[in-house]
Amino acid sequence: MLDYDLHCHSTVSDGLLSPTDLVARAAERGVKILALTDHDDLGGLTEAAQAAARHEMQLINGVEISVSWRSHTVHIVGLHINPADAALQAGLQSIRAGRGTRAELMADSLARAGIGGALEGAYRYATNPGIIGRTHFARFLVERGHAKDVRSVFKNYLVKGKPGYVAHQWATLADAIQWIQGSGGIAVLAHPGRYTAGRKPMGRTTLRELLAEFAELGGRGIEVVSGSHTPPQYAEFARYATEFGLLSSCGSDFHGPGESYRDLGRLPDLPLECKPIWQAWETTQH
Ligand code: AMP
Ligand code: MN
Ligand code: MN
Ligand code: MN
Repeated sequence: MLDYDLHCHSTVSDGLLSPTDLVARAAERGVKILALTDHDDLGGLTEAAQAAARHEMQLINGVEISVSWRSHTVHIVGLHINPADAALQAGLQSIRAGRGTRAELMADSLARAGIGGALEGAYRYATNPGIIGRTHFARFLVERGHAKDVRSVFKNYLVKGKPGYVAHQWATLADAIQWIQGSGGIAVLAHPGRYTAGRKPMGRTTLRELLAEFAELGGRGIEVVSGSHTPPQYAEFARYATEFGLLSSCGSDFHGPGESYRDLGRLPDLPLECKPIWQAWETTQH
């Protein structure tokens, strides 16, 4: 079992716990090294670091950047980023700027499907309105009885071809990697098993092209053990890590009690052939 958890969310993006409560929960569950990786925002890192110090836990400054690659939305996690870096901050600000208009269009789309009040309803769940996103709409749809839980919402709403879906242009892959690495951080391709083409998984050829481009642009790691992956996918993505010379990362992608596939920490070991992502920072320190 790993005492690393390198992917999770607080109320600064679409998680349910404050950075302080998130860190406390991780500590209680045996996490020793935690990366807070809120979507497109660094606003939780100071509070999380203060909480981590109280729990004798190491807090890694992280972020999860939304990227448009071809017709796909993909997520790039940055680890050990520098929250004071101006280019990174400006890049994330440019992503956040698009979320407000997108939310209005999402609400319009839901209204056309007969669901009114979605904009106000979603913002009530967004502790940080700058990061308004699909999870907040999903919570509103559950509240109104349109689905039994947040996960089920994404079967009938907010995804391509369904009410509430709005195509959106996020950052480019090259920019996201540059912002992360330019600030001294390490870029990691998040949950590759979750990417889809329409309703089908992204084809292997396309995934290989994504990984080749990601590595070419300076990307260093890939999430192998993820709360979004099944055990057979751990093995599958370990093979991709080896093939593309990438380090392997692990993270729960925890969003909140009762809402996520996995709780914080207690993640299974990386497959034996993997080179863990922490080699990227631990080897330079000794
Ligand atoms: P956004 O960045 O606004 O498009 O929202 C993306 C977020 O929606 C993800 O980070 C997840 O938290 C959530 N999400 C997307 N797909 C699903 C799903 N199938 N089940 C649960 N949550 C999902
Ligand atoms: Mn999320
Ligand atoms: Mn993600
Ligand atoms: Mn995430």
